Amino acid sequence: MKQKRFLLTEDRIPRQWYNIQADMPVKPLPMLNPSTGQPVKAEDLYPIFAEEACRQELDTEHRWFDIPEEVVEQYAYYRATPLVRAYGMEKELDTPAHIYFKNESVSPVGSHKLNSALAQAYYCKMEGVTNVTTETGAGQWGTALSYAARLFGLEAAVYQVRISYEQKPYRRSMMQVFGAQVTPSPSMSTRAGKDILTKSPHHQGSLGTAISEAVELARMTPGCKYTLGSVMNHVTLHQTVIGLEAEKQMELAGEYPDVVIACFGGGSNFGGISFPFMRHVFSGERKTRFVAAEPESCPKLTKGEFRYDFGDTAGYTPLMPMFSLGHEFTPANIHAGGLRYHGAGVIASQLLKDGYMEAADISQHDSFAAGCMFARCEGIIPAPESCHAIAATVKEALKCKESGESKVLLFNLSGHGLVDMSAYDQFLAGNI
Ligand SMILES: *Cc1c(COP(=O)(O)O)cnc(C)c1O
Repeated sequence: MKQKRFLLTEDRIPRQWYNIQADMPVKPLPMLNPSTGQPVKAEDLYPIFAEEACRQELDTEHRWFDIPEEVVEQYAYYRATPLVRAYGMEKELDTPAHIYFKNESVSPVGSHKLNSALAQAYYCKMEGVTNVTTETGAGQWGTALSYAARLFGLEAAVYQVRISYEQKPYRRSMMQVFGAQVTPSPSMSTRAGKDILTKSPHHQGSLGTAISEAVELARMTPGCKYTLGSVMNHVTLHQTVIGLEAEKQMELAGEYPDVVIACFGGGSNFGGISFPFMRHVFSGERKTRFVAAEPESCPKLTKGEFRYDFGDTAGYTPLMPMFSLGHEFTPANIHAGGLRYHGAGVIASQLLKDGYMEAADISQHDSFAAGCMFARCEGIIPAPESCHAIAATVKEALKCKESGESKVLLFNLSGHGLVDMSAYDQFLAGNI
């Protein structure tokens, strides 16, 4: 029998992911095939994603999905992640609020992204796939996928947005250390890339160009599937391990969150920590508030429009009903690369429309100021993305100070910022 390595923590890891689609009072509208206008079926997505991921994507019936044993084994390397009471931060803010954070920065790659990368790589392996491909902006998702691919014996090809490839060399080297092939996008290796470069030879790349290239590679290469690190429902499903663990850990602490807060790029870490708690709001047992923190410069939740839109610039993806700034929107080149996406996931979009969650806009300056304060109090340097969640938490904590209420606040620390120190340098030099 295979020796189990992490007996001490294994029983704290959830054995199932939570599918909020089963409980939503109003189900999301269907994704549409842009050429026929018909709702997308799981089979339509099989050529692109692992088949199990496609089934999970569209499932509105099954509340729980078993986490494969092989994935639990990998989770056991870093899960359960710590739930920490931020006493230092409470003292610094002089607030009666109780502040907790879930520390996803302890994953081997430094962010929550590995929770879904492991699942997607596992399904690809089981389905006989040999190669996986994806896009990455700042590099967190690409790093997570490169490592997960290595663990399950798959080759990984990552298209990295050209400007990040040049400006964030360390994440590129991390992916290469894990054995991935990294190509700056746009590149001459795909039709889509060639078209873009012919039109604008000095194109700096965007998530849109990189998605188009990766999808094309997956379509054209036998045995190759595409994977995505955010936005899609199945990605958020995998991230619910965060909230399910937090729920048990809060119980151990003898508290229950009044407000759950996370930063929002496509919505996977927000959904991951929020959705398990939200099911108790649907059932009427709780009145928890959920706050998504987005950058002021990419405000799809507060200023976007709810409509059908494409997930990528080229228009290769299905049409998705979501809050969007328009698929041709190019966000400012802020340091929180993971939050530079024009749209919000389909589930979160519906929940925002129906009033189950709120959104807060955070300026880049406020995000780094909150990140530095947090680092000085708690000893962890947060990812620029996570700084947005911290800034939103600070706002809630200061409201408590004003009203004298000792609310329980829970935020997700989605990753650490140790590979983003040049951004902190710029902040400290007064250039942000
Ligand atoms: C990718 C990323 C995000 C944003 O993506 P979501 O899908 O919205 O969670 C946030 N934080 C970190 C550290 C990331 O790597």
